[in-house]
Amino acid sequence: MTQPDCILGIDIGTTSTKVVLFSASGASLDQHTVGYPLLSAQPDVQEQDPEEIYQAVIESVRTVMQRHPARLKTLMGLSFSAAMHSLIAVDDRGQLLTCSITWADRRSTPWVSKVRQCCDAHALYARTGTPVHPMSPLVKLMWLRHEQPDLFRQAAKFISIKEYVIHRWFAQYVVDYSIANATGLFNMKALDWDAEALALAGITSAQLSQLVPTTHILSSMTSEAADSMGLPASVPVVIGASDGALGNLGMGAMTPDVVAITVGTSGAVRAMVDRPQTDPKERLFCYALTENHWVIGGATNNGGIILRWVREQLAMAETDTARLLQENPYDILTAIAATIPAGSEGLIFHPYLAGERSPLWNANARGSFFGLGLHHTKAHMIRAVLEGVVYNLYIVLTALEDVVGPASSIQATGGFARSTLWRQMLADVFNRVVTIPEVYESSCFGAAVLGLYALERIPHLEQVSEMIGESDRHCPIPENAQQYQVMLPLYMQLLESFAPFYETIAKIQST
Ligand code: ADP
Repeated sequence: MTQPDCILGIDIGTTSTKVVLFSASGASLDQHTVGYPLLSAQPDVQEQDPEEIYQAVIESVRTVMQRHPARLKTLMGLSFSAAMHSLIAVDDRGQLLTCSITWADRRSTPWVSKVRQCCDAHALYARTGTPVHPMSPLVKLMWLRHEQPDLFRQAAKFISIKEYVIHRWFAQYVVDYSIANATGLFNMKALDWDAEALALAGITSAQLSQLVPTTHILSSMTSEAADSMGLPASVPVVIGASDGALGNLGMGAMTPDVVAITVGTSGAVRAMVDRPQTDPKERLFCYALTENHWVIGGATNNGGIILRWVREQLAMAETDTARLLQENPYDILTAIAATIPAGSEGLIFHPYLAGERSPLWNANARGSFFGLGLHHTKAHMIRAVLEGVVYNLYIVLTALEDVVGPASSIQATGGFARSTLWRQMLADVFNRVVTIPEVYESSCFGAAVLGLYALERIPHLEQVSEMIGESDRHCPIPENAQQYQVMLPLYMQLLESFAPFYETIAKIQST
């Protein structure tokens, strides 16, 4: 008889859906990724087509399983990770009334101050764990009700992208505690929708999905969905959690003193605690992984997107050269930065080109170079940019340490971890050992581990520590760490000095 021996982790991200086939012991066997665009008619609109994402999920699963037909018989199940904060309105026949409004959409910005005026916003944050911010579906609902009242009235359900896919597969609206927790509508203590938040949004709990734990198992997929992926309809599907919470699990960052840092397009700094915990200064989020595992941390807008900006705006010639040499342009840029000493010889870059969530919570924050002299070259500017992103992550870490205590070790992953220089910089600025887990797709891996636990293949989530390898380890280089101890206070003092001017400069941009 064939033994169950593999599981699929599915991660519905902002830029792509990734599907990874893992063995029962956590080894990555194969993967497939399908990308999709962010639809942005205006800069503050950041939407996606749910149908396109649905097709990406189908295609990714089908492609991986077609390459391993023998494993169809030994597949234990599927388990989901998904990006947080998406909002989709559907009518009573399940038809789309809106696109998927992503975390990056800023149209609801004016409603943040209205929430603060009309209720105790700190109490709301402390109950829901979601900062009052335009990314939050609660704030988006307030905006939608005001801007598109007819559409709002027509909406039978307000769901996230994961609920949309699950509904297409199982014809039922269910949402896990983790994704629900990132809506601003979920009461962490009660593990239920928050009546006050719902009243603020102007909706009832009947317009939201049924809440279930992240280990909830769905079965009896519609034959149409099963056929489209070439799977048996009986395959168990674990609903899973959000990408942030699963990122910690996938990196083995399961205690308050082990901090997980992800830097992809954006960035996040997170730790795990055993009960809901929030920040008196409202700098951090708190989201469920399970009823006994909660992820607390901060998300920054300004991660790898800033190096992408450098590549596109300041390094066209280098990018062309990379193309000619068939090399990765990021590798060329980081090699150029590596020729400059730590601290960029007195050049400091504030990376707030995309406004900022944690640690500033200011959509009008802006970037700057400070300290430029005639001795500075483009290479200094590139290095200062890489350093600026890391200085900012350090501020988020400080906020996290204020609430959960000191971090003894750092695990890092995401696109930035492809660069040895950037990883070493993290160790030097943080003055701590940084390890890079072997499995790069930590949210997919986290989904698979949660799936194995839900399907009773492993006894507890902490088993993950025996499943993850360590691919690289960076110890701080003392001279660099010393230099950064000089730069960090300067960076922070400048931040305070610049803050009063952000509103004015942002207004000039928009007139
Ligand atoms: P996403 O967050 O969209 O899933 P990734 O995790 O792949 O994307 O991160 C993309 C970012 O990672 C890029 O914008 C870039 O800043 C950074 N990056 C990718 N490759 C490299 C590299 N070789 N060296 C340095 N940075 C890189």
